[in-house]
Amino acid sequence: MSSNEMETDVVVVGAGNAACCAAVAAHEKGARVLMLEASPEDQRGGNSTYTGGMFRTVYNGVDDVRQLIPDLTDADMANIDLDTYTEEQYFDDMGRLTQYRADPDLTEVMIRKSFETARWMQTKGVRFQLAYGVHGFKHNNRFKFWGGGAVQVWGGGAELVKAWHARLQRENIPVLYETPALSLLQDDDGVKGVLAKRQGKTTLIRAKAVVLACGGFQSNAEMRTRYLGPGWDLAKVRGTKYNTGVGINMALAIGAMPTGHWSGCHATEWDMNAPPFGDLTVGDSFQKHQYPFCIYINANGERFVDEGADFHTFTYAKYGGEVLKQPGQFAWQVFDQKTTHLLREDYRIKRMTKVQADTFEELAPKLEGVNARKFLETVKAYNEAARPNVPFDPNIRDGLCTQGLAINKSNWAQPLDKPPYHAYGVTCGITFTFGGLMINTRSEVQDTAEKSIPGLYAAGELVGGIYYHNYGSGSGLISGAVFGCIAGRQAAERAKAN
Ligand SMILES: Cc1cc2nc3c(=O)[nH]c(=O)nc-3n(C[C@H](O)[C@H](O)[C@H](O)COP(=O)(O)OP(=O)(O)OC[C@H]3O[C@@H](n4cnc5c(N)ncnc54)[C@H](O)[C@@H]3O)c2cc1C
Repeated sequence: MSSNEMETDVVVVGAGNAACCAAVAAHEKGARVLMLEASPEDQRGGNSTYTGGMFRTVYNGVDDVRQLIPDLTDADMANIDLDTYTEEQYFDDMGRLTQYRADPDLTEVMIRKSFETARWMQTKGVRFQLAYGVHGFKHNNRFKFWGGGAVQVWGGGAELVKAWHARLQRENIPVLYETPALSLLQDDDGVKGVLAKRQGKTTLIRAKAVVLACGGFQSNAEMRTRYLGPGWDLAKVRGTKYNTGVGINMALAIGAMPTGHWSGCHATEWDMNAPPFGDLTVGDSFQKHQYPFCIYINANGERFVDEGADFHTFTYAKYGGEVLKQPGQFAWQVFDQKTTHLLREDYRIKRMTKVQADTFEELAPKLEGVNARKFLETVKAYNEAARPNVPFDPNIRDGLCTQGLAINKSNWAQPLDKPPYHAYGVTCGITFTFGGLMINTRSEVQDTAEKSIPGLYAAGELVGGIYYHNYGSGSGLISGAVFGCIAGRQAAERAKAN
């Protein structure tokens, strides 16, 4: 074998959450595993590193949550209202959010295996915590968690990736950095390895099975425009610059079936002056997700969405796309002081686009690019339409709504009347794309006749058919984890049999 050839049982392409789950699961089954990562070591972990670590798993009450977070004390629990997130609730959310298009078989596997997969991750060194301040606010002296979002990876994505790479090291699973996979090797019996560029040198890696876990195409401006449509080339990317759709294209090139919502993606509100790709020193803090407590203003000085349609967890992934559609692709979130205590840390970072003033007349010219006269009319009309006839409560859909506006605000619609007023400039930040490869419930990549391509498995962002139109926060990591584990185990089984 020449120095530019290598050989192993299972090649895992990528080194984010889905890939690490696959690699560790394959190793656990006795396979020799080699991981390829396009990025340098200091940028390893892809989008998974950028996450806040929200983890949408089933929990049937306090006992389940305590299994995932064993260091919770009785004193902690005394001030917390935590109900359930049952399989049925999860199915309902996936159905409603995807307009009943999510692949039922994949969705079922993802949901039913979510808790056991979280437990498995825990045995590998991943820790969890309660998602304080993300999906639960302290209100009337109690914390309440809503929307299925009680659990978060301890320390967010950075700690998640650190934990995974510590485990890889412990198991002696090698990761080749700056080694992007380029194409798949196959013969009539199936996939037999990959061709990669190892630090500039073309390298052939023979293997008995390949797991693709190398992300969607969100960081590829050409593919964004081609599939998502005009204007998406200008979107900022919230995470890694390395997820350019190569894994998807490698599989399509050997006859894999594309599936899912190719013109859809997860995109959120993101600081208008954020860099073109994510910045690990800021992580996910360019996001501005607390718009349910503000009014959103576009360049015309008008509101354009129902900010309080639902908890942000169920709207944030589609409202980035709404911002992209506005003139100039930007908007301002305008708050008063009544909800300042509910704003996450993301609203207090140094690198953000914020203006403040004691009156709306003073604020208007500071909202760069906005029709000031129209903005003042919009605020006045909003304040007159806000009817404080039920108490404000951030932990429930409180029904505190406006009446009579062209676009009403359905919940949390308090008038803006407590200065100083503060506003945050946002644009669209794309997170990941929804279209991808068709897999079956064994994570086997399907060909265009919907038959498994022998030796090829996939997990994570590059799998299509799970998300359409919208997304509930915390589902990306769990989908990658569940199908990553399955892919790793299946790949190891195949390697053993060949
Ligand atoms: C700012 C932000 C916040 C988020 N917050 C959350 C959250 O709180 N909870 C949640 O569930 N999800 C969250 N997500 C979504 C989540 O990050 C993804 O759904 C999930 O991490 C995807 O995991 P993955 O392993 O498929 O991809 P990634 O983690 O992106 O890993 C893909 C890897 O493949 C590598 N790669 C790409 N091309 C190649 C190639 N040709 N060869 C070799 N390697 C390659 C990349 O460098 C990368 O390391 C967030 C995303 C972002 C950007």
